[in-house]
Amino acid sequence: MPPRAPRVITRGEGVWLTDSEGHRIIDGMAGLWCVNIGYGRKELAQVAARQMEELAYYNTFFQTTHIPAIALAAEIAKLAPGDLNHVFFAGSGSEANDTNIRLVRRYWDVKGMPWRKTIISRWNGYHGSTMGGGSLGGMKPIHAHGGKIDGIEHIDQPYWWGEGGEMSEDDFGLARARQLEEKILELGPHNVAAFIGEPIQGAGGVIIPPKTYWPEIQRICDQYGILLIADEVITGFGRTGNWFGSQTFGIKPHIMTIAKGLSSGYQPIGGSIVCDEVAEVVGGGGEFFHGYTYSGHPVAAAVALENLRIMQDEHIVDHVRDVAHPYLKARWDALTDHPLVGEAKLVGLMGSIALTPNKATRAKFPDDANVGYRCRERCFANDLIMRAVGDRMIIAPPLVITTAEIDILIDRAKKSLDECWQGLKADGLV
Ligand SMILES: *Cc1c(COP(=O)(O)O)cnc(C)c1O
Repeated sequence: MPPRAPRVITRGEGVWLTDSEGHRIIDGMAGLWCVNIGYGRKELAQVAARQMEELAYYNTFFQTTHIPAIALAAEIAKLAPGDLNHVFFAGSGSEANDTNIRLVRRYWDVKGMPWRKTIISRWNGYHGSTMGGGSLGGMKPIHAHGGKIDGIEHIDQPYWWGEGGEMSEDDFGLARARQLEEKILELGPHNVAAFIGEPIQGAGGVIIPPKTYWPEIQRICDQYGILLIADEVITGFGRTGNWFGSQTFGIKPHIMTIAKGLSSGYQPIGGSIVCDEVAEVVGGGGEFFHGYTYSGHPVAAAVALENLRIMQDEHIVDHVRDVAHPYLKARWDALTDHPLVGEAKLVGLMGSIALTPNKATRAKFPDDANVGYRCRERCFANDLIMRAVGDRMIIAPPLVITTAEIDILIDRAKKSLDECWQGLKADGLV
């Protein structure tokens, strides 16, 4: 791919970005899936300034804590389903997943089963870019740059459009979930600590699993007594039309990874929400020698708390479920009328379209045609940020997007698809 000078983003307001050349760009990706309440909310800046003046920093080691961390943990426990009542803070989603690796292994140690160490994950899942997060993830290019830690095994992803062949979506969802059972039996159930998955794979291309998938994964985790970790870094905090993606898919995890939308990206913060039983077991084992200097940083925690206040006071999750999703869904699905678009998927405000030269056979373009990249370039030229993952184009706009802004997003997407199609025709690729 040709090198290209980076675009310099200078301002943000609502769903809109401005660059150094004065373009007004509609941000179909909420930054990197995180600016859920939109850009430019002054309340968050004011809370940050106030917190810095009062207590800029303190740590949560050595039996100390501070009010923003206490208040934020309580608020998260209130919003999280079931008995997910305890929060271990980190500075990012990657750090939180590193915490999860140590936490689930420690859990089994304290339970007297130190042999339960292996964590099962999915190919093309994304769990971050640290050594632990990158290893949990199933992205081979990431493994190729720096390696992969031991004790992590991968099964195939529930990507029906790309890998389902002749199977029905439902049968395929079951088959892919049953790979978890096969992997557990292959490894020996007594060696398996946990399974981790994103309710919807985000960075992997917004892969929305068939409806049969998660119930079967849940059944298998329950049957073999292994811990279930839902990586909610993208799907948490309203993205799917509920507070958590686990609620949308009926998943009952022991641990949730959170970050991104927790603070709407205004401050770096992440964490692991842990259920009562895991917290009690790990807590019962004495001190857990783990934590980060910036775990629960008071400024980040105060900003996240203000973000959650705005989310609730302005009924933003209801807006996603009742207004923005239904409106976008109708227009998003209609993109399949375009000759280039095979399928269109959308849950809440997280969507993807598959670009294909043949809808009937769900064919792929040759890799070196870089069709996703070409389409992204057209979006850029039309002042729309839509990301490409292979030949899938994906969106996750700020949750506050209005119906009028959805119209603009769709109009720009269609124009970009048209121009991409013309370019492919000119180059003999369709
Ligand atoms: C972004 C992401 C992460 C990593 O979070 P960082 O804050 O970038 O470290 C982990 N899991 C998922 C599902 C993500 O999308």
